[in-house]
Amino acid sequence: MLKNIDQAPYVPVFEVRDTLHKYGRYDPQTKTITVSDLIKFHGHLCGGLMEAAMALRAAFDALFPAGVIDRTDLTIISNNSACGGDVAAYLTGARARFGSHIIDLSLSGGEFIVRRVSTGDTVHVSLRPEVHPHEVKAQMRKLLGGDYSPEDIDLFGRLQWDYARRLVQHPASESFTVEHLHDFVWPDPTCLDLGRRSDNDFKDAP
Ligand SMILES: [Zn+2]
Repeated sequence: MLKNIDQAPYVPVFEVRDTLHKYGRYDPQTKTITVSDLIKFHGHLCGGLMEAAMALRAAFDALFPAGVIDRTDLTIISNNSACGGDVAAYLTGARARFGSHIIDLSLSGGEFIVRRVSTGDTVHVSLRPEVHPHEVKAQMRKLLGGDYSPEDIDLFGRLQWDYARRLVQHPASESFTVEHLHDFVWPDPTCLDLGRRSDNDFKDAP
């Protein structure tokens, strides 16, 4: 499943905190989320999945210097990539249907704006231009253009996995920039207002 990536030196791992149950207080135990977990949710390993995981690793390092990511305390803006969007939702606990995961089509796949709600601390994380996978994008354009052979689909897969493998050879901070945004105006939700997430409302209850 991991295409020999799990032995690489900087495969991201995420320690997260949630609540103990619906209307429960904070769970004293944390959970560990691995790239394998992300793959089970998303369905496959791809360049976009690893790019998003590394981008959010860099963002969380800035927002949660103590190391544990509070999944009750995050909102995020991503583009509408199936891959990056899934990683954004899984790792932050934000949900498009609750208005906490905003879709902005002007962002690229490896670009996110992440806010720690309780502190207002907001970061903009984006892929450094020198890391941009031109060969993956070129092959993707070929597939989407319709003029491709079956081998082109296989090649696209290999190029993505090579890119994913390349990303985890370096710390996330080497591949992504993280900029703190001050006075950032959070956009309106992109989904119809159907209510907000409420299962975490008692997390600070005595
Ligand atoms: Zn994907």
